[in-house]
Amino acid sequence: MTAGGPTERTAPDLARLADALRAHGGDVHEAGPGDAVDGVPAAAVARPTSAGGAAAVLREATAQGLVTVARGGGTALDWGAPPERVDLLLDTTGLDRLAEHGAGDLVVVAEAGLPVAALLDAVGGAAQELVVDLPPERLTGGTRGGSTVGGMLATGTSGPRRLQRGAVRDLVLGATVALADGTVAGSGGKVVKNVAGYDLAKLMTGAYGTLGVVVRAAFRLHPVRPDRAYVLATGPAGHVAARARDVLASQLAPAAVEIDRPAGGDTATVAVLLEGVGSAVGQRAAEAAVLLGGTVQAEAPTWWARLPGDDDATLAKATATLTGVAGLVSAARDAEQAHGVGVALRGTAAGVLHAAVTGTPEATASAVGRLRAVAPSPREGTVTVLRASRAVRAAVDAWGPVGGLDLMRAIKRQLDPGRNLAPGRFVGGT
Ligand SMILES: Cc1cc2nc3c(=O)[nH]c(=O)nc-3n(C[C@H](O)[C@H](O)[C@H](O)COP(=O)(O)OP(=O)(O)OC[C@H]3O[C@@H](n4cnc5c(N)ncnc54)[C@H](O)[C@@H]3O)c2cc1C
Repeated sequence: MTAGGPTERTAPDLARLADALRAHGGDVHEAGPGDAVDGVPAAAVARPTSAGGAAAVLREATAQGLVTVARGGGTALDWGAPPERVDLLLDTTGLDRLAEHGAGDLVVVAEAGLPVAALLDAVGGAAQELVVDLPPERLTGGTRGGSTVGGMLATGTSGPRRLQRGAVRDLVLGATVALADGTVAGSGGKVVKNVAGYDLAKLMTGAYGTLGVVVRAAFRLHPVRPDRAYVLATGPAGHVAARARDVLASQLAPAAVEIDRPAGGDTATVAVLLEGVGSAVGQRAAEAAVLLGGTVQAEAPTWWARLPGDDDATLAKATATLTGVAGLVSAARDAEQAHGVGVALRGTAAGVLHAAVTGTPEATASAVGRLRAVAPSPREGTVTVLRASRAVRAAVDAWGPVGGLDLMRAIKRQLDPGRNLAPGRFVGGT
């Protein structure tokens, strides 16, 4: 749905965009084939080197009626629906400073284009970490130095240890954001100027750059826990889901409890991570092994902190209540049997999983519908398609029933009234 805003492609006036950047540093150039966003060609690329530059070029772009899409490492540009058009690609990799590491306060403030790997290196020196659990190939992948702080926030994906330390949305303390009209706004801790009424950092998390361009963000850190043990058990999928629930209900305080259900089988594996200092970790691992009927190992399984399936699969995020996870696992098997698809399911046993579906577009749509039917309402679970081919997107309702859609649209209207930021990418065509 396209509700007003830019509809016709406007050729960017590169000279005026460059003028806007002049006082701040950075450059503007015509886009090439490698700058397409999920198949949508870009017209121009701006690479500011400061928050002020990002805001100035955005102000000018919006004044020209352009559609701007932010790009960090470019590793997840095919997540979310393709934007309606891309007149200006705002490359954030020139915003790559670590602004502050308050080791005593366990806080880090970084510019949006800083690679997450560089942030982890910097805080690792003080035996601290940002617990996002990005898999190694995301940290170094792509052609632009891997996932950035801004891209991580905008996609809002969290790894196994979200169970105990919280998701990205919980770890972000504040964000400074360039809005479509060039206003620099902030909220939460460690920002300069607060915007009343909104927690911008949380709003930006998982919004795919449709509400503003994050230029800087502050995160809560955790001390590294040096000792780890993993406990694994494989068995019938329903049994594994029930044992995983037992671990969650126990006093073992696991850092993560992950379920992996490969496509096409009736078995699944549960992997429990225990973290801490010294021998207590081994004792807790031994107790978990008894509870699960599993074995203890020092290394993570190869699938740990990796999304299921390969890049050609349709990738969906499936949430469920604690008791709904077993339903998701059996719906995966039912979908395979009924629709001839493959459904690999992986994620935290507490109810945030990813599903990789392989099959024809129609069968994939039916499988997504079957997974969605597990939850009686969006409050009890959702299934949203993150990445899919054009053919699958045409066949499937990518978002499903969404609570609070009117509120989301109202926020979009307020922060980006002209629909200049990645229109069409997010739920409800926002
Ligand atoms: C356990 C785990 C596994 C993961 N596995 C995968 C995986 O297999 N594949 C995968 O693609 N991702 C995966 N991710 C998600 C990963 O977080 C993102 O791929 C990555 O962080 C995106 O960073 P990027 O800089 O490459 O973003 P980009 O690809 O550049 O951008 C991604 C999105 O964010 C927007 N954006 C980028 N920067 C900003 C900004 N500064 N302000 C506003 N919007 C912005 C873009 O417009 C785009 O919509 C995983 C995450 C976790 C935690």
